Amino acid sequence: MFGLIGHLTSLEHAQSVARELGYPEYADQGLDFWCMAPPQIVDDITVTSVTGQTIYGKYVESCFLPEMLATQRIKAATRKIVNAMAHAQKNGIQITALGGFSSIIFENFNLQRISQIRNVKLDLQRFTTGNTHTAYIICQQIEQAAQQLGINLSQATVAICGATGDIGSAVCRWLDAKTEVDELLLVARDRTRLLSLQNELGRGKVLPLEEALPLADIVVWVASMPRGVEIDPTTLKHPCLMIDGGYPKNMATQIQHPDIHILNGGIVEHSLDIDWRIMHIVNMNTPTRQLFACFAESMLLEFEQWYTNFSWGRNQITVANMEKIGQISLKHGFRPLLSLA
Ligand code: NDP
Repeated sequence: MFGLIGHLTSLEHAQSVARELGYPEYADQGLDFWCMAPPQIVDDITVTSVTGQTIYGKYVESCFLPEMLATQRIKAATRKIVNAMAHAQKNGIQITALGGFSSIIFENFNLQRISQIRNVKLDLQRFTTGNTHTAYIICQQIEQAAQQLGINLSQATVAICGATGDIGSAVCRWLDAKTEVDELLLVARDRTRLLSLQNELGRGKVLPLEEALPLADIVVWVASMPRGVEIDPTTLKHPCLMIDGGYPKNMATQIQHPDIHILNGGIVEHSLDIDWRIMHIVNMNTPTRQLFACFAESMLLEFEQWYTNFSWGRNQITVANMEKIGQISLKHGFRPLLSLA
């Protein structure tokens, strides 16, 4: 059985979902209540591959909310993640993806050191960040959407916002090794890590966001920001492809301009309907078929019975592993979302 650990994008979102799912006692509560709420299994999932194989899974809501980071409720945030992991393990789930901020919190606060959660000793082999599949899907979205829009990668400048992150650095590695992208712009806050990535790649310009945006034909958003940034569309190149892989979204502005194309990043479409409720709740356009690529990674590992933490740690994703997960993604009927806004 596979598992997905997820969270909602804001307190407001959580309150409306609690009402919809039949938890009225959660619906009118503020952030302090959510800080104390235990993890819950809120969905049972059935997925069938195009090969005919069927697998079963569960969705674990961790009750983490991005506001906990924004308001420095760090202890609550970390407790949410390890408790959700222990809950998944206790329920017999063999491989669980840590969605959205779950793996970021696990790494940033070094939760590896907390291995005993009450009577559960966490077995980390049962968890994957799902970031290898997410990075692979974002790279496919870059290549295929650029072709749709007539953007020639060999003449294109690609800005990666969150370049030094786990997903961002993997995207940079792929673009360097597998495409002929003309220029890479590396954007994040910590300059030392940016210079180290530039050194690893042997290329790329380190620029602040406001200088990178006007130069980019393609912008990939993979920054771990609890709230999105406002963007002035008049400062962007026309045409410009923006692939927003953040959860919550990195872009706060709803841009409506014929030459600016927005793509929901790190999202896959399955070829067959999935029996679940959870993607209705996170407002996917086609909730029976579309899902986060990190969640799809745990399904892929279950289909193949690779009970191992395929994606783990930080900035260790290789192009070879992206190709490997990409092959089984295709085999089981997943493809990158390509419908542009
Ligand atoms: P990491 O924590 O590994 O990396 C985050 C990156 O963002 C770092 O480069 C960090 O560098 C940068 N960053 C953080 N804040 C800012 C800021 N204010 N301005 C510019 N750069 C910033 O995160 P991941 O790679 O694991 O995840 C990235 C995003 O992808 C998250 O939003 C996550 O929720 C989402 N995600 C989506 C998935 C999907 O299936 N679609 C799956 C998993 C994650 P620095 O701190 O130096 O600024």
